[in-house]
Amino acid sequence: MIDKQYDIVIIGAGIHGVGVAQAAAAQGYSVLVLEQSAIAAGTSSKSSKLIHGGLRYLETAQFSLVKECLRERALLLNLAPELVKLVPFYIPIYKHTRRGPWKIRAGLMLYQFLANNSPSSRFQVLDKSEWPALDGLQQKDLLSVFRYHDAQTDDVLLSKAVMSSAETLGAQLCVPARFTQGTIHKTHCDVHFEYENTSVQCVAKVIVNAAGPWVSEVQKKISPQRFNLNIELVQGTHVLIEGQLNQGIYYLEAPHDQRAVFVMPWHQKILIGTTENVYYGNPAEVKPLADEIEYLLQTYHRYFPQTQKPDAISAFAGLRVLPMSEGSPFKRKREVQLLLDNEDKPKLLSIVGGKLTAYRATAERVMHRLKPSLPPSLARGDTHLLPLNDPT
Ligand SMILES: Cc1cc2nc3c(=O)[nH]c(=O)nc-3n(C[C@H](O)[C@H](O)[C@H](O)COP(=O)(O)OP(=O)(O)OC[C@H]3O[C@@H](n4cnc5c(N)ncnc54)[C@H](O)[C@@H]3O)c2cc1C
Repeated sequence: MIDKQYDIVIIGAGIHGVGVAQAAAAQGYSVLVLEQSAIAAGTSSKSSKLIHGGLRYLETAQFSLVKECLRERALLLNLAPELVKLVPFYIPIYKHTRRGPWKIRAGLMLYQFLANNSPSSRFQVLDKSEWPALDGLQQKDLLSVFRYHDAQTDDVLLSKAVMSSAETLGAQLCVPARFTQGTIHKTHCDVHFEYENTSVQCVAKVIVNAAGPWVSEVQKKISPQRFNLNIELVQGTHVLIEGQLNQGIYYLEAPHDQRAVFVMPWHQKILIGTTENVYYGNPAEVKPLADEIEYLLQTYHRYFPQTQKPDAISAFAGLRVLPMSEGSPFKRKREVQLLLDNEDKPKLLSIVGGKLTAYRATAERVMHRLKPSLPPSLARGDTHLLPLNDPT
């Protein structure tokens, strides 16, 4: 049953949309989430499924992002133990590796420091006698192997668990419901959407545009237009192959361009990702490219050579939303941006970019920015404390 009036209408049920729904409902607000296809149907089902600080972001000095993500990782390990699990990560260093042992050691020391030196953040250098147990990892020219820990999740289940927590607190989800038009007035916003082949209208105090790669498209449907989003979509592909990894996740350097590539256990198979290619098309039509699949399979085979070069069983591509810039996507800032139509009393807030890992912190920040436009409320919970259960 759709009501006529809400405090907040959220467009998109990816991790950011459901995260804001949970935070808003916990603060006692009435919330409606509109999702055009299914929970996590967009980027939130196509991530690398890591709940991590992002070791590689230290190279681009994104220290506050890494610190926040490590803090959120620690919290999610407690709140969602069925869904977020610590996994050993291995970084092999070869004669040809661009990031030498001193650099990796320095990076891991900083990572450990940013994780408040928690026991799970300590790293080791493996003894040579342990190398043969590393799932067939190439031993030729191997100089050293580092082991540290980060966490893995199921991005779809995590998104569903957060939405389920939001619904328990009173949030409503409408799916499949496609937002079609919004108008911002002085005191409220009109929201139009299509649901069950019918045009529906409701009123909200504020609108949150959490449409991920569709963020610009949704923005254009809201009047008056106050600003343009200067963003770029960057495609990242993963491939799934037959095989099994018993030790954990391998953090490798792609031979052609030295980018980081993860080789991960995934449902008794192996997931390899990811790539980064600027994408200009319709977000709904993004597909893995033959070159990307080849790049990932070649990287895997270079480091796990005793089997034949594998074939991909399947592949999927997701879209990162990054600020427009000349530089390589790999080096661009990954911090989330919150764009408001009005800094003092926003009626529209758009979430641009961000990390699966930091969704809860992002949602808290969204609520903080929206507070001046919302009435006083009675809190029903605190997202620092709300457990997240496996929805299956
Ligand atoms: C390849 C790749 C790997 C990544 N790996 C990681 C990782 O390992 N760890 C990590 O922390 N982060 C990772 N990220 C980042 C993370 O996945 C994203 O930041 C996050 O999933 C974005 O979520 P979102 O809710 O903003 O967008 P989305 O998940 O795309 O959700 C947007 C939703 O809006 C809906 N929508 C759009 N238009 C409308 C409309 N008109 N009406 C109704 N609904 C609409 C869509 O259907 C969609 O479900 C990765 C990103 C990529 C691309």
